[in-house]
Amino acid sequence: MSLEPEMLKSLVKAAAEQVIASAAELTALDQAIGDGDHGANMKRGFEAVLGKLDTIAVLPPGEALKSIGKTLVMTVGGASGPLYGSFFLAAGDALSNKQLPADLADVFGSGVNAVSARGRSKAGEKTMLDVLFPVLETLQSEAASPDLIARVRTIAHEAVARTAPMQATKGRASYLGARSVGHVDPGARSSCVLVHAVCDTLEARS
Ligand code: ADP
Ligand code: MG
Repeated sequence: MSLEPEMLKSLVKAAAEQVIASAAELTALDQAIGDGDHGANMKRGFEAVLGKLDTIAVLPPGEALKSIGKTLVMTVGGASGPLYGSFFLAAGDALSNKQLPADLADVFGSGVNAVSARGRSKAGEKTMLDVLFPVLETLQSEAASPDLIARVRTIAHEAVARTAPMQATKGRASYLGARSVGHVDPGARSSCVLVHAVCDTLEARS
């Protein structure tokens, strides 16, 4: 996988468009266990990213990710804005001294660890990390698999469903205590949408 401007543009465009198309679903999930703004937050942020797409796509890949991160920090709001912002800022930093595809797990891992540090959160707390960590583990353990993209897609999808029986211990949903059980986490779903958008784009190009 090369990250030439055309590829970078396709990846960012697909991610933004799929998040925007999922806004109603993300809102509905956040209405059940939060305050119902996750869809609008993510839509606003990724519309801002789309608006800068031509500028972002010609940057060196590490700088492009950092530009996305800064844009999300400024526009998404809520808990998820600083968290997704941290992901892209840290992944961009990591990418500046690494090579793709060889270091994909390292770059993605830097982003995931930044979310965990920023959110003071870990796996099992019913958050976006319950998708991001399983995806990271798949990137690490199945890096050599010819089916890596399909595996990542499946793992992300299954990880979203696994948040439903969890009780939230971080974020707004944690205020509900046991009543958060039985609902999918909105941030887990938005992370899955982003991961699937990348998978779609890579599959279409391979
Ligand atoms: P808010 O909760 O402020 O309304 P959003 O609705 O945009 O913000 O985002 C909620 C999502 O953010 C949750 O579904 C969860 O996945 C994620 N989240 C919240 N707090 C944390 C945290 N401490 N660590 C990781 N993810 C978190
Ligand atoms: Mg919310």
